[in-house]
Amino acid sequence: MQTNFDNLVQIRRSFHQIPELALKEYETHALILKIIKSFPQDYLEFKNIDSMPTALLVRVRGSNPHRTIGYRCDIDALPVTENTGLQFSSTHAGIMHACGHDLHITVALGILRHFSTSQPADNLVFFFQPAEESQSGSVLAFKSGAFTQEFQPDEFYGLHDTPLLEAGTIGCRMGTLFAGTTEVNITLSGKSGHAAYPQNAQDMVVAQAYLITQLQSIVSRNIDPIEGGVLTFGKVTSGTIRNVIAGQAVIEGTIRGLTQEMIELIQERIRVICAGVALALDCKIDVQLNQGGYFPVQNNSALTKNFIKFMRNSKNIRFEETPPAMTGEDFGFLLNQFPGTMFWLGVGPTSSLHSATFNPNEQAIQPGVNAVIAFLEDRMRKEHPSNV
Ligand SMILES: [Zn+2]
Ligand SMILES: [Zn+2]
Repeated sequence: MQTNFDNLVQIRRSFHQIPELALKEYETHALILKIIKSFPQDYLEFKNIDSMPTALLVRVRGSNPHRTIGYRCDIDALPVTENTGLQFSSTHAGIMHACGHDLHITVALGILRHFSTSQPADNLVFFFQPAEESQSGSVLAFKSGAFTQEFQPDEFYGLHDTPLLEAGTIGCRMGTLFAGTTEVNITLSGKSGHAAYPQNAQDMVVAQAYLITQLQSIVSRNIDPIEGGVLTFGKVTSGTIRNVIAGQAVIEGTIRGLTQEMIELIQERIRVICAGVALALDCKIDVQLNQGGYFPVQNNSALTKNFIKFMRNSKNIRFEETPPAMTGEDFGFLLNQFPGTMFWLGVGPTSSLHSATFNPNEQAIQPGVNAVIAFLEDRMRKEHPSNV
């Protein structure tokens, strides 16, 4: 398909056809760059990250800057085989933009195109981020010095699409938008033996069952029910055959909470309960936490208040206050480093994010672009950084 850079829907479809997994977004990166190079270049500066060749930062120089505003957009896709039947379906076998990051890229390019022709008052930094779905691209970029000097945002914004809101509707909330997540792997080691002689063995099937039941008391007994938290063990393995007592068992799960403190509380309880069960059942229990976890996406209170007020009061924008999502988002790490706001762009109705039939409504793209441009322009009229 020939890409017409004037048409955002066509741009989105071009990205949709070339989905790539975390840190391998080479074609996506090249197309983003090609499209940006077709814009007027007068105010633009580029920054690459050597250790992350698919990442891209673009700065738009402000005419009378009081601050640098960051805008983050994720660019990776998922190992899902597309089943939408669309003409512009993925051409990469087994990979699909099932989280709508193709649409995120398009909205970001729409905003960038506007400010490349109409110079903003403040500086803008666009971060096209690889590896949101796995491998924490935001952490890698931050640690590689992506956001230093002129590329350091004073405040940071980003959106995620959602099938739960009507196409083009903006959603947001004060506090946490996405839960924090931590992966947890627990390995139990005892002594295997003959099924007929339990007295000579340490049965890790029994220990595992007992441990899971104990761990499930954390959410019901240690957590403020108003705050909530999730502890799910989705994969449990042990044993080899029916008549041998299992000497090893593995439990794999995930922790979710709306604040970092909640995640840490659940982690601490897991450690204590595992130590207790190891003692009680005479076995060794190894706990590994924090493998591939995400910080909660905690919106800055003053900036988010300002954001919601603007969206609510804008005649041309449909806005809804939303509940938090228990899914994770890598932007949480950056909002832990820089104050900012994450918000939703409705793309519904369609099937859920990450599903093989996810087909966001493209009618969301232009209203999304317009809403963010209007917000940024309003933000830039407030001259003092603390003026929210
Ligand atoms: Zn996703
Ligand atoms: Zn996503």
